[in-house]
Amino acid sequence: MKKYLFLLGLVIIVFLATGCLNFQDQHTSFKKINVLVTINPQAYFVQRIGGDKVQVTVLVPQEFNPATYSLSVKQIEAIKKADIYFQSGHLPFEKTESSKIKKINPSLNIVDTSQGISWRCFAKKNQEIECPPKDYDPHVWLNPLFVKIQAENIYKTLVKINPKEKKIFLSHKEKFSKELDILDKKIAKLCAPYQGKFVLVYHPVLGYFTDHYGLKQVALQKEGKEPSLQYMEDIFSLVKSKKIKALFLQKQFQSPAIKSVAEKLGVKIVVFDPLRKDYFLLMEELTDIILKNL
Ligand SMILES: [Zn+2]
Repeated sequence: MKKYLFLLGLVIIVFLATGCLNFQDQHTSFKKINVLVTINPQAYFVQRIGGDKVQVTVLVPQEFNPATYSLSVKQIEAIKKADIYFQSGHLPFEKTESSKIKKINPSLNIVDTSQGISWRCFAKKNQEIECPPKDYDPHVWLNPLFVKIQAENIYKTLVKINPKEKKIFLSHKEKFSKELDILDKKIAKLCAPYQGKFVLVYHPVLGYFTDHYGLKQVALQKEGKEPSLQYMEDIFSLVKSKKIKALFLQKQFQSPAIKSVAEKLGVKIVVFDPLRKDYFLLMEELTDIILKNL
């Protein structure tokens, strides 16, 4: 009898143990949410909130220019598997490729993470006229406070897809938001002595940064297009009168033509990468490189 009870006990323990194991298996093997994003920083935002519950694929590789990149055949499998596409909002790639992506995966949920952001306008001349969406400046991620809005939108969507993990997503989002606030205050303090200074760029990627931190962006590509002769003359006199020392050039836009423009303007080229994956490194290095060269 004792032996029988002992064996029965063993059976129960084994049963419970495998039961637990099964439960754990189911728990940990909850299918990861397959996410598409357009650019690297966006992948970082989604990973900060989703943690190990998400699998993120970046559609525009870091070395490519999101203004001209188009989908490669290799990316089709990732698109087919994806549950959601978190867009940065109004990037040229998102405008031109979204319909192709939707054709590959018709059930794909597309979310614009910059909903709720007040857009800069490339072509806006009169404050009273509303900016047409075609003229929205899409480089929103270079203002950490706008990244907080993006994080909120990403969080809400992930909770909708996997409500069981709400607590985890929420704690990730809150931690990320706090870090963004600290980053924002740090950059504001560093920029404070440089208020009103001009930042000459080739591609107008720094508008959200300069607006937010009290600097002024002047771009060679006027409203995203190549400059006219008259415009170049205006730039030339601005460079002389404001003693501008540098032309800030986004890594993805380097070309010999820009080098000769810089020589003619008498400024040095300073290369930076606004598409780095680690957002905090990106912003700290960007701030450092701009302020050093003003
Ligand atoms: Zn751009």
